[in-house]
Amino acid sequence: MYEQPIKQFLGQNHELSGVELEDGTVVDLETGFVAMGSQHHSHYLSEIDLQWKGGNLITDSMCRTSHPRIFALGDLKEGLNQVSIAVADGTLAATAIWRDIRRASPPRKWEENVDQSTVEPVGVVS
Ligand SMILES: Cc1cc2nc3c(=O)[nH]c(=O)nc-3n(C[C@H](O)[C@H](O)[C@H](O)COP(=O)(O)OP(=O)(O)OC[C@H]3O[C@@H](n4cnc5c(N)ncnc54)[C@H](O)[C@@H]3O)c2cc1C
Repeated sequence: MYEQPIKQFLGQNHELSGVELEDGTVVDLETGFVAMGSQHHSHYLSEIDLQWKGGNLITDSMCRTSHPRIFALGDLKEGLNQVSIAVADGTLAATAIWRDIRRASPPRKWEENVDQSTVEPVGVVS
Protein backbone atom coordinates (compact mmCIF):
# COMPACT_ATOMS: atom_id res chain seq x y z
CA MET A 1 0.00 0.00 0.00
CA TYR A 2 1.25 3.45 -0.95
CA GLU A 3 0.20 6.40 1.15
CA GLN A 4 2.03 9.09 -0.81
CA PRO A 5 0.03 11.76 -2.61
CA ILE A 6 -0.09 11.29 -6.40
CA LYS A 7 2.02 13.77 -8.38
CA GLN A 8 0.75 12.82 -11.82
CA PHE A 9 -1.03 10.18 -13.87
CA LEU A 10 1.06 8.44 -16.54
CA GLY A 11 -0.11 7.03 -19.84
CA GLN A 12 -0.67 7.62 -23.52
CA ASN A 13 -3.66 7.87 -25.84
CA HIS A 14 -6.14 7.97 -22.94
CA GLU A 15 -4.76 4.72 -21.47
CA LEU A 16 -3.48 4.76 -17.92
CA SER A 17 -0.10 3.07 -17.41
CA GLY A 18 0.63 4.18 -13.87
CA VAL A 19 1.04 7.03 -11.43
CA GLU A 20 4.02 8.96 -10.22
CA LEU A 21 3.96 9.65 -6.51
CA GLU A 22 5.25 12.83 -4.94
CA ASP A 23 8.57 11.24 -3.95
CA GLY A 24 9.19 10.18 -7.58
CA THR A 25 8.13 6.54 -7.16
CA VAL A 26 6.36 5.22 -10.28
CA VAL A 27 3.60 2.64 -9.70
CA ASP A 28 2.42 0.65 -12.74
CA LEU A 29 -1.38 0.54 -12.93
CA GLU A 30 -4.06 -0.19 -15.50
CA THR A 31 -7.04 1.22 -13.61
CA GLY A 32 -7.70 3.47 -10.64
CA PHE A 33 -10.36 5.40 -8.80
CA VAL A 34 -9.99 9.11 -9.37
CA ALA A 35 -11.51 9.66 -5.94
CA MET A 36 -12.15 7.21 -3.15
CA GLY A 37 -14.00 7.89 0.05
CA SER A 38 -16.92 10.05 0.98
CA GLN A 39 -17.39 13.62 2.02
CA HIS A 40 -20.24 14.49 4.36
CA HIS A 41 -22.29 17.60 3.73
CA SER A 42 -23.79 17.96 7.19
CA HIS A 43 -22.88 21.57 7.95
CA TYR A 44 -26.55 22.58 7.66
CA LEU A 45 -27.19 20.59 10.85
CA SER A 46 -24.56 22.39 12.91
CA GLU A 47 -27.06 24.80 14.49
CA ILE A 48 -29.22 21.95 15.81
CA ASP A 49 -28.38 20.29 19.10
CA LEU A 50 -27.82 16.66 18.03
CA GLN A 51 -25.67 13.86 19.43
CA TRP A 52 -22.71 13.02 17.20
CA LYS A 53 -20.02 10.38 17.29
CA GLY A 54 -17.19 11.74 15.18
CA GLY A 55 -18.80 12.78 11.90
CA ASN A 56 -21.82 10.49 12.34
CA LEU A 57 -25.16 11.08 14.01
CA ILE A 58 -26.14 8.75 16.82
CA THR A 59 -29.59 7.21 16.33
CA ASP A 60 -31.85 4.66 17.99
CA SER A 61 -32.85 1.39 16.28
CA MET A 62 -35.44 3.25 14.11
CA CYS A 63 -32.91 5.87 12.91
CA ARG A 64 -34.26 8.62 15.19
CA THR A 65 -31.58 11.07 16.32
CA SER A 66 -31.47 12.69 19.75
CA HIS A 67 -34.03 15.15 18.34
CA PRO A 68 -37.41 13.37 18.29
CA ARG A 69 -38.37 14.77 14.86
CA ILE A 70 -35.06 14.33 13.06
CA PHE A 71 -34.00 11.02 11.53
CA ALA A 72 -30.61 10.16 10.05
CA LEU A 73 -30.00 7.50 7.43
CA GLY A 74 -27.16 5.77 5.66
CA ASP A 75 -23.70 7.22 5.78
CA LEU A 76 -24.82 10.18 7.90
CA LYS A 77 -25.53 7.96 10.89
CA GLU A 78 -23.25 5.72 12.88
CA GLY A 79 -22.86 2.26 11.34
CA LEU A 80 -21.84 0.50 8.14
CA ASN A 81 -21.52 2.59 4.99
CA GLN A 82 -23.32 0.24 2.59
CA VAL A 83 -26.16 0.76 0.14
CA SER A 84 -28.25 -2.02 1.73
CA ILE A 85 -28.00 -0.33 5.13
CA ALA A 86 -29.07 3.06 3.72
CA VAL A 87 -32.11 1.46 2.04
CA ALA A 88 -33.11 -0.40 5.22
CA ASP A 89 -32.67 2.80 7.25
CA GLY A 90 -35.19 4.52 4.98
CA THR A 91 -37.74 1.79 5.71
CA LEU A 92 -37.16 2.01 9.46
CA ALA A 93 -37.40 5.80 9.58
CA ALA A 94 -40.54 5.87 7.41
CA THR A 95 -42.16 3.30 9.70
CA ALA A 96 -41.27 5.28 12.83
CA ILE A 97 -42.64 8.50 11.28
CA TRP A 98 -45.86 6.73 10.25
CA ARG A 99 -46.27 5.37 13.80
CA ASP A 100 -45.72 8.86 15.26
CA ILE A 101 -48.43 10.29 13.00
CA ARG A 102 -50.88 7.48 13.80
CA ARG A 103 -50.31 7.77 17.55
CA ALA A 104 -50.86 11.53 17.42
CA SER A 105 -54.22 11.12 15.63
CA PRO A 106 -57.48 9.92 17.16
CA PRO A 107 -58.43 6.31 16.38
CA ARG A 108 -60.13 5.91 13.00
CA LYS A 109 -63.65 4.50 13.05
CA TRP A 110 -64.11 1.99 10.28
CA GLU A 111 -67.65 3.24 9.62
CA GLU A 112 -66.26 6.59 8.42
CA ASN A 113 -64.63 4.81 5.49
CA VAL A 114 -67.68 2.85 4.40
CA ASP A 115 -70.59 4.08 2.28
CA GLN A 116 -73.47 3.28 4.68
CA SER A 117 -76.03 3.11 1.85
CA THR A 118 -74.36 -0.05 0.53
CA VAL A 119 -74.15 -1.84 3.87
CA GLU A 120 -76.61 -4.73 4.24
CA PRO A 121 -78.18 -5.11 7.70
CA VAL A 122 -76.71 -8.10 9.49
CA GLY A 123 -78.80 -10.63 11.45
CA VAL A 124 -82.20 -9.51 10.12
CA VAL A 125 -84.51 -12.38 9.12
CA SER A 126 -87.28 -11.50 6.66
C1 LIG B 1 -16.00 4.73 -4.01
C2 LIG B 1 -17.13 4.10 -3.23
C3 LIG B 1 -17.47 2.78 -3.45
C4 LIG B 1 -18.51 2.18 -2.75
N1 LIG B 1 -18.85 0.88 -3.01
C5 LIG B 1 -19.89 0.32 -2.38
C6 LIG B 1 -20.30 -1.01 -2.69
O1 LIG B 1 -19.70 -1.70 -3.54
N2 LIG B 1 -21.36 -1.52 -2.04
C7 LIG B 1 -22.06 -0.82 -1.12
O2 LIG B 1 -23.04 -1.32 -0.57
N3 LIG B 1 -21.69 0.45 -0.80
C8 LIG B 1 -20.63 1.03 -1.41
N4 LIG B 1 -20.26 2.31 -1.10
C9 LIG B 1 -21.00 3.02 -0.03
C10 LIG B 1 -22.35 3.51 -0.52
O3 LIG B 1 -22.17 4.27 -1.71
C11 LIG B 1 -22.97 4.39 0.57
O4 LIG B 1 -22.99 3.70 1.80
C12 LIG B 1 -24.40 4.78 0.23
O5 LIG B 1 -24.44 5.43 -1.03
C13 LIG B 1 -24.98 5.69 1.31
O6 LIG B 1 -26.24 6.14 0.92
P1 LIG B 1 -26.80 7.51 1.51
O7 LIG B 1 -28.18 7.63 1.00
O8 LIG B 1 -26.56 7.54 2.98
O9 LIG B 1 -25.85 8.65 0.91
P2 LIG B 1 -25.58 9.06 -0.59
O10 LIG B 1 -25.72 7.91 -1.53
O11 LIG B 1 -24.25 9.77 -0.55
O12 LIG B 1 -26.75 10.07 -0.92
C14 LIG B 1 -26.82 11.33 -0.32
C15 LIG B 1 -27.40 12.28 -1.36
O13 LIG B 1 -27.75 13.50 -0.71
C16 LIG B 1 -27.30 14.56 -1.51
N5 LIG B 1 -27.12 15.71 -0.60
C17 LIG B 1 -26.11 15.93 0.26
N6 LIG B 1 -26.32 17.07 0.92
C18 LIG B 1 -27.49 17.57 0.48
C19 LIG B 1 -28.24 18.74 0.80
N7 LIG B 1 -27.85 19.64 1.71
N8 LIG B 1 -29.41 18.92 0.17
C20 LIG B 1 -29.85 18.04 -0.76
N9 LIG B 1 -29.18 16.91 -1.10
C21 LIG B 1 -28.01 16.70 -0.48
C22 LIG B 1 -26.03 14.08 -2.16
O14 LIG B 1 -25.73 14.82 -3.33
C23 LIG B 1 -26.39 12.62 -2.46
O15 LIG B 1 -27.03 12.49 -3.72
C24 LIG B 1 -19.23 2.92 -1.78
C25 LIG B 1 -18.89 4.26 -1.56
C26 LIG B 1 -17.85 4.85 -2.26
C27 LIG B 1 -17.52 6.30 -2.00
